[in-house]
Amino acid sequence: LHVDFSLIQRETGFISGIVCVLHDVTEKEKNERERREFVSNVSHELRTPLTSVRSYIEALTDGAWKDEKLAPQFLNVTQEETDRMIRMINELLSLSRLDQGTAKMELEYVNFNEFFSYILNRFDMMIKTEQSDPKKKKYRIKREFTKRDLWVEIDTDKMMQVIDNIMNNAIKYSPDGGVITTRLMESHNNLVVSISDQGLGIPRKDISKVFDRFYRVDKARSRKQGGTGLGLAISKEVVAAHHGRIWVDSAEGRGSTFYISLPYQPYEDGGEWNEEN
Ligand code: ADP
Repeated sequence: LHVDFSLIQRETGFISGIVCVLHDVTEKEKNERERREFVSNVSHELRTPLTSVRSYIEALTDGAWKDEKLAPQFLNVTQEETDRMIRMINELLSLSRLDQGTAKMELEYVNFNEFFSYILNRFDMMIKTEQSDPKKKKYRIKREFTKRDLWVEIDTDKMMQVIDNIMNNAIKYSPDGGVITTRLMESHNNLVVSISDQGLGIPRKDISKVFDRFYRVDKARSRKQGGTGLGLAISKEVVAAHHGRIWVDSAEGRGSTFYISLPYQPYEDGGEWNEEN
């Protein structure tokens, strides 16, 4: 906010008034600064994997290709980093569509309990197939759903992306043997979904930033796990496009709970459809 003050002074020297003009430039400047930061972030985020891919290719060209042990390792890194860059660019494109409001919302009226169960069943199936692998960490998904069916209008593909992202993070950050608790509740004309993990949590100073583009508490760790730092930023935009809210509650060392709330109009029972006669 820019504030200009002018004093209205009489010839006698007395001040008879003050004119105060407020210019709201903050929003515009903030947007401009954020845009510049974003472009700079994108450049850095892409340069890092590209530089590393280039050095692996250089090493291969310089003779590592003949090394039966090294060559597949190096090729594997270049493949993983390329995959991550493609993922990042796809995510940037979907963010840009959401920003411009050109992301088409394919709204459908769905029973959220069934929708959420469907997503969690997929994760349970994944756990089943992973269980036989002793190298993989173990975790369990608990469900605490309201009995009441909650019907809402959502873009199922986009909302699934949001829940997948939060679930994948919860899994990534869960300790071995951890429990991920998923809840579905109704509160004050809102449907509330929560996903809690028992992982390392998010430091207080980072909590407000995890939904920012490219923000990661531990950059190196996120990269190593193939993260792009865009998942939660996209989730935030998708939830906003549904007129909902997304937030996190976390205690360092004790885990995190991510919440999504969506506007929900309770369906009144007893309408003509329910009349038996
Ligand atoms: P990515 O997972 O690709 O790094 P996200 O946007 O999904 O990006 O998440 C941003 C950051 O938020 C992560 O890098 C991590 O630091 C933090 N974070 C997200 N989910 C959790 C969680 N369940 N527990 C702890 N930290 C988390």
